[in-house]
Amino acid sequence: MDPPLAPPPHVIIFPLAAQGHVNSMLKLAELLAHSGLRITFINSEYIHHRLLRHADIQARFTAFPDFRFKIISDGLPLDHPRSSDHFMTTFSYVKSITMQLLEELVSAPDRPVTCIIADGILTFTIDFAGDLGVPVIAFRTISASSFWAYFCIPRMIESGDLPIKGDEDMDRVVTSVKGMEDILRCRDLPSFCRVADLSDWTLQYVTTQTLQTTRARALILNSFDQLEGPAISQIRTHFPNLYTIGPLHSHHKSRLSSPSPSSPPPSPASNSIWEVDRSCISWLDKQPPKSVIYVSFGSITTLNRHDFTEFWYGLVNSGRRFLWVVRPDSLAEGGSGAVPEELREAVAERGCIVGWAPQEEVLHHGAVAAFLTHSGWNSTLESVVAGKPMVCWPFFADQQVNSRLVSHAWKVGLDMKDVCDREVLERMVNGVMGERQEEFAADAGDLARRAREATSKGGSSWDNLDRLINDIRSMKP
Ligand code: UDP
Repeated sequence: MDPPLAPPPHVIIFPLAAQGHVNSMLKLAELLAHSGLRITFINSEYIHHRLLRHADIQARFTAFPDFRFKIISDGLPLDHPRSSDHFMTTFSYVKSITMQLLEELVSAPDRPVTCIIADGILTFTIDFAGDLGVPVIAFRTISASSFWAYFCIPRMIESGDLPIKGDEDMDRVVTSVKGMEDILRCRDLPSFCRVADLSDWTLQYVTTQTLQTTRARALILNSFDQLEGPAISQIRTHFPNLYTIGPLHSHHKSRLSSPSPSSPPPSPASNSIWEVDRSCISWLDKQPPKSVIYVSFGSITTLNRHDFTEFWYGLVNSGRRFLWVVRPDSLAEGGSGAVPEELREAVAERGCIVGWAPQEEVLHHGAVAAFLTHSGWNSTLESVVAGKPMVCWPFFADQQVNSRLVSHAWKVGLDMKDVCDREVLERMVNGVMGERQEEFAADAGDLARRAREATSKGGSSWDNLDRLINDIRSMKP
C-alpha cells in the first residue's frame, strides 16, 4: 500500500487591516494557493465583511479547497469609520487577539503550520512565532525605496540629515540614504521624518519596525529589480534572503491565465473593500482615446476643503476630461466635497465622479491618458503596469518617496508635492496630457514593458516567486 500523501505546506498570512495592505497580501495568498499551498488568511472582521460581500471575490477564494479565512475583530463596531490613525488606537487590542489566534493555529494538530507571512509593519509576530518555533517571512507592502529610506533613519540622524530644520531646509539634498543620493531631498523623505522632535512616537515606531524586520527569516517586497534597482541592491546587503516578486497584480494575471486543473478561472482579481461603481466604464467607453485624466487618492487619504476647491478648479481649467473618485469620506472636515456652483456646467460636460472605481480596469482603458494619484504604492504599480504617466500629489508615509521616483528616477510624470494650487495642477495636467505627453508616454510604455517581462516566465519576479514557493515547500512544519 502506498504511504499516505504528506499534506501541502500550510502558510498563515497576516496583513495590517487596510485596503492597500490586504490588497497585495491577498494577491500573494491567491498565487500561493494556486501553486498548491494551504493558506490561512487572517482578516479583520471589518475588511472581511466588506470584501466578501462581492460575489466574484467570494467565488475566487472558495474555489481553492485549501484556502480559509480566520476573522479577528479590531475592537471597533463594524459601522465605526476607519481612518489612517485607527491602526494606532486599536493596535494593542489587535496584537493580543492575534497572538491568541496564532497560538491556536500553531497548536492545531490537523493543520501543522509551515510558516507565517506577516505584514512587515507588525513585527511582534516575528518574536511571538519564534517562541512557537514557526519561521516568519516579513512582507513590506511599500516600495523598496521607501523601505530603504525607513531603514536609513538612524543613519540620517547620525549624519545630521535629520531633523529637518524647518521649511527653508526642505529642498536640501539628503546624502545619507546610500544608492539614492541623487534623488532625495528632505521634502521627499517619508512624511514621518517631518518632525522636529526625533523621539516622535510614529517616527520611532516605523524605524523600530523596519529594523526589526531583519529578524525575520526572509523579506518579500512587491517590486521588481528593474524598477528599483539601487534601493533593492542596498536592501539585499541587509536581507540576503530577499524576494522581490512584484508587481503582484501583473504577476497574478500571467500566472492565473494558465490555470491548473484544481484552480478557479482567471479573473480581474480586484480585492476592493468598497462598492465599485461601474458606470464610469460606460462613461469612459464614450470618450475619445487618450483624452481622460483619472483622479484617485486611494482608500484613506482625505482632502481639506481648500485642497478640494483647488482640485476642482485645476481640473476644470485644464480643459481636459476627467474621471474623479470622490469617496463618501474624502473630505477631511466631513460632508461632501461638492462641486463649486460656477463649475457645475463644465464638470457635467467633461467630468465623471464616482465613489469608487474599478481602478485597474480604468487604468487599462484606452480613453485614459494619465493618472492624478496620491502615490500609494499599489496605485503607483498599477499605473506602471498600465503604462500611464502620472501627476502625483502625495499625502503621507511612503508616498513622498514614491512620487519622487515617478518624477526623477523613472521620469514618467510630475510631482505636485506640498503645493496644492489650481494653476500648478492645470499646468501639470496639461504637461502630461499635452506638450510633454509623448515623452512621458514613451517612458511609461517602456516601464510597463519591463514590468511585464519581470512577471513573465523567466523574468526576475517570476523566478523569485518560484523560489519563494520552493523555499516554503522545503521548510518542515
Ligand atoms: N482603488 C480602487 N478603486 C478606487 C480607488 C482605489 O480599486 O476608486 C484601489 C487601487 O486599485 C489600489 C488601492 O485601492 O489597489 C489603494 O492602494 P494604494 O496603496 O494605492 O493606496 P492606499 O489606499 O493604501 O492609500
